[in-house]
Amino acid sequence: MKIIVDTHTHTLASNHAFSTILENVEYAKRNGMKAIGFTDHTHGGEDGAHRWHFKNLKVLPSVINDIRVIKGAEANILNDRGDLDIDGVESYGKLELVIASIHNDYDFPQNKEYHTNAYLGAIAHPNVKIIGHPDDKRFDFDVEAVVKACKESGTAIELNNSSLKKGRADIARVKRILKACREFGTYVSCGTDAHFAMEVGSFAESIAMLEECQFPEKLILNTSVEKMLDFLGLAE
Ligand SMILES: [Zn+2]
Ligand SMILES: [Zn+2]
Repeated sequence: MKIIVDTHTHTLASNHAFSTILENVEYAKRNGMKAIGFTDHTHGGEDGAHRWHFKNLKVLPSVINDIRVIKGAEANILNDRGDLDIDGVESYGKLELVIASIHNDYDFPQNKEYHTNAYLGAIAHPNVKIIGHPDDKRFDFDVEAVVKACKESGTAIELNNSSLKKGRADIARVKRILKACREFGTYVSCGTDAHFAMEVGSFAESIAMLEECQFPEKLILNTSVEKMLDFLGLAE
């Protein structure tokens, strides 16, 4: 299995990440990627990029050094209604990709029901295309209900390489998520969540997990640029 699209990376626009757009593109290329998502944290988080960052992503070409650049954001889920910190901000409506994630911020962590409702609300948001790192040990939720809702709304669920690599992931839950994705036909999106250029496109842990679970390639978005762009509604 070959992953050629990394949908989740950060740049200097978030202070706790350390590379530029060009550096991320360079390592995307070195690591065999054909497309890369730029998904810096949104303004609601303590270290999110300024709103103008997202508004001005239009200055970036769609292709840099032969790599398709997908202009996006990683939004913060705020509560159990699934409200996002990007709600009502016009520039976010123009993004090519919105990942919605729960971070250790706002009302989180709470209990399983609260987290489940937070995800269900975020999934219903029309701009949200991917649920980010649903593997976090601190935020348990009803896996089957959320994966089923993702299928119904055309949202993908993320396999986050950083979580696997850095030991943040609840491995049993990741396996349950993949099993439920197979059962309901829900797409999985692979993202490194790189905060430094050298991590971009580095998917060893994700590939090992997908192989261990014998996960069907047809449900992985990142094996084809066309498949990913089609899923995001960006196909020409
Ligand atoms: Zn995140
Ligand atoms: Zn991230």
